[in-house]
Amino acid sequence: MTERVEILGVHVDAVTMAQAVERVADLIAAGKPSMVATANAEMLLRATHDDELKSILNAANLVVPDGAGTVWAARHLGCHMPERVAGFDLVQELMKLAPARAWKFYLFGSSPGIAEKAKAKAETLYPGIQIVGTRNGYFKPADEPEIVAQIKAARPDVLLAALGVPKQEKWLAAHMNDLNVPVSIGVGGTFDVMAGVVKRAPLWMQRARLEWLFRAMLQPSRAGRLLALPKFVLKVHKQKVNS
Ligand code: UDP
Repeated sequence: MTERVEILGVHVDAVTMAQAVERVADLIAAGKPSMVATANAEMLLRATHDDELKSILNAANLVVPDGAGTVWAARHLGCHMPERVAGFDLVQELMKLAPARAWKFYLFGSSPGIAEKAKAKAETLYPGIQIVGTRNGYFKPADEPEIVAQIKAARPDVLLAALGVPKQEKWLAAHMNDLNVPVSIGVGGTFDVMAGVVKRAPLWMQRARLEWLFRAMLQPSRAGRLLALPKFVLKVHKQKVNS
């Protein structure tokens, strides 16, 4: 068993990418509905004033340290956190193994056409992968029973939900038992990146822990979200001082 680190009231698993993949494989094998969350600084900060999100994250079967901010926070608190496990990278690792393990995926979320493009990309990158359904992430409450029925009928092993934080976590928590999918993961902008609509930061920026800056530069509408970072740093520091 790996350790869990409490960051601003949320338990984050101190796992490497390899351990995260192994845990997901175990959850798929177990077959019971489970949830995997990818916690970045913005999500952890939101959970400090969104109790529903906080409870969902603390009830999740696995919470991976997505983002340099989460890894920094754990280490600043004096805890072991081996490496960053970005949601996008975790999805790629799982998809890489999918053909050999016969894992079936369902891609739910993003603007119309994006999940289909992400599916086509996955089929090129990971030949033999089974993507058993796609559905865009713009819907009315009245459409939800049909969405749930479609996902259930497709019987995926892994449901990827890209509705943004915290909508994807709340939607999955509300429907996961009914969906009866072994593993559900909230994956944010993953389909946009796979479809080539949004670019991932160059490797040197990822290594310099500047991916957040790249995303803000590329999508200026996100720049306001940068304010979350200094707030996150201050809150984590306060947690350290008070502990
Ligand atoms: N999205 C969606 N339905 C919504 C709101 C957002 O499908 O009602 C999608 C949006 O098109 C995008 C993703 O959710 O593909 C959110 O991406 P973002 O990078 O903002 O994720 P976050 O940073 O919130 O995890």
